[in-house]
Amino acid sequence: MSEQQKFDVIVIGAGPAGYVAAIRAAQLGLKTACVDAFVGKDGKQALGGTCLNVGCIPSKALLDSSRQFWNIAHNFPVHGISVENPKIDVAAFIARKDKIVKQFTGGIGQLFKANKIMPFFGKGKLLKGNSVEITGHDGDKQTISATNVILASGSVPIELPFAKFDGKTIIDNAGALDIGAVPKRLGVIGAGVIGLELGSVWRRLGSEVTILEALPDFLSVADADIAKIAAKEFAKQGLDIKTGAKLTKAEVKGEEVHLTYEDKDGAHDLVVDKLLVAVGRRAYTDGLLAEDTGVKLDERGRIVVDEHNHTGVDGVWAIGDAVRGPMLAHKGSEEGVAVAEWIAGKAGHVNLDTVPYVIYTEPEISWVGKTEKQLKDEGVPYKVGTFPFAAIGRAVAMNEAVGQVKMLAHAETDRILGVHMVGPGVSELIAECVVAMEFKGSSEDLARIVHAHPTLSEAVHEAALSVDKRAIHKGN
Ligand code: FAD
Ligand code: NAD
Repeated sequence: MSEQQKFDVIVIGAGPAGYVAAIRAAQLGLKTACVDAFVGKDGKQALGGTCLNVGCIPSKALLDSSRQFWNIAHNFPVHGISVENPKIDVAAFIARKDKIVKQFTGGIGQLFKANKIMPFFGKGKLLKGNSVEITGHDGDKQTISATNVILASGSVPIELPFAKFDGKTIIDNAGALDIGAVPKRLGVIGAGVIGLELGSVWRRLGSEVTILEALPDFLSVADADIAKIAAKEFAKQGLDIKTGAKLTKAEVKGEEVHLTYEDKDGAHDLVVDKLLVAVGRRAYTDGLLAEDTGVKLDERGRIVVDEHNHTGVDGVWAIGDAVRGPMLAHKGSEEGVAVAEWIAGKAGHVNLDTVPYVIYTEPEISWVGKTEKQLKDEGVPYKVGTFPFAAIGRAVAMNEAVGQVKMLAHAETDRILGVHMVGPGVSELIAECVVAMEFKGSSEDLARIVHAHPTLSEAVHEAALSVDKRAIHKGN
């Protein structure tokens, strides 16, 4: 094997976990390669993984465009602005998103160049002894090796056996980011993050959106009070969310999908023009591991790692959606940084207890830490502080005075245990609470900090004051 094909670190997967790991490793002076198999809708290889190509970035681009369109009819009139007969050019709407995706995936290529990371395009397979066999898109094979290999192969959508993706009528996230015309009726299976975000996109452009959720409770991963407020707002927007609804049949008939689902009242039929199936994602490890590597998978197909993301096989690490923990880009990126630092003999750090969650709907939803139910179940004594955006001047001025901030603190120590929000700009407001929790802060700490007026962040300040029943702008 030539010198060129030996590396300090090989990363398999160039999503937000893998490409960040590669950049950090290179920054630390390690000779780094990154292998990625992603091919975009134009047939070209592209770095950035799910997040940049068919996840976080394109979904936020479409959410922002559709929000502007929705506001013309639903927000502008309150401000005294009228626009007659607004139209959406779906081709331009999709093209703007594609341009943003290209800008960011191309940007990763530039960062690789700047950091002298060698990219390999094709499918990587870990062999025993930390070699990686790469099968190029043309079928050609080559083998490279390294002292350390970081597995960052990500995740793929879960397919329902009775509603298989056909890429045209029954679609996954990639399909829902690329619909050519506003469907009259969009069915969504799963009222999770993707269902709510992409369901919102097409609802705002005029689709009749019906979301079928198997679980009896709406958004049971979030705090129940927050989920309740969000459900009310989504219903006002015309998102028809049916909980406790189990899909039993999906049949494509011409241009339509005929669905049968069951709920507590029995079986129902529903006909839609497109069906988005968003029932979760699974770790993707197909073809990633030769049989004798010793890397183990758990019962859900995730790569088994310890608290340092080490697989237990000498020099083999795994990060991102392919391992335990939330399937979030920022969680994978932080693991990537930490692993590169551990490899370089430094002190890496990832705290899975303070990973923020954000759902980019309207209103936005965000949280960090434990829900009230989790604290109850764990028998932890707690105090609650809440504050509504209806009493926040900035939110009222924006005509977006919906939702609240809810803070949970330990009843004895006052340490913040969780913060839950639904309302305007809460994707940004959560950062302050993450910092407070990471520094083991108390509600008193946040209550004593000066917050600018008038800003949305005053809702966090007032919620912190409300933990101690001393919020200023509401009754306690
Ligand atoms: P991925 O991004 O999935 O990247 C893995 C890469 O590895 C891919 O390019 C894949 O082709 C490649 N690969 C796999 N196997 C091999 C192999 N054997 N050889 C070579 N290459 C291989 N998260 C957020 O935090 N915020 C959001 O707003 C957000 N929005 C989302 C919206 C949608 C529609 C979706 C689907 C997801 C969203 N996510 C969001 C989740 C986020 O995309 C994932 O958590 C993140 O992409 C995981 O990063 P990763 O690097 O682990 O894997
Ligand atoms: P999810 O886990 O968020 O939601 C899936 C939903 O489908 C759940 O509510 C589940 O109860 C329901 N479900 C499962 N099987 C069902 C069935 N047979 N019929 C009806 N409902 C069913 O998964 P997702 O929305 O597919 O998203 C996948 C991952 O991507 C998530 O883990 C999320 O973290 C990540 N993501 C994050 C963001 C963000 O951070 N804003 C955005 C999109 C996706």
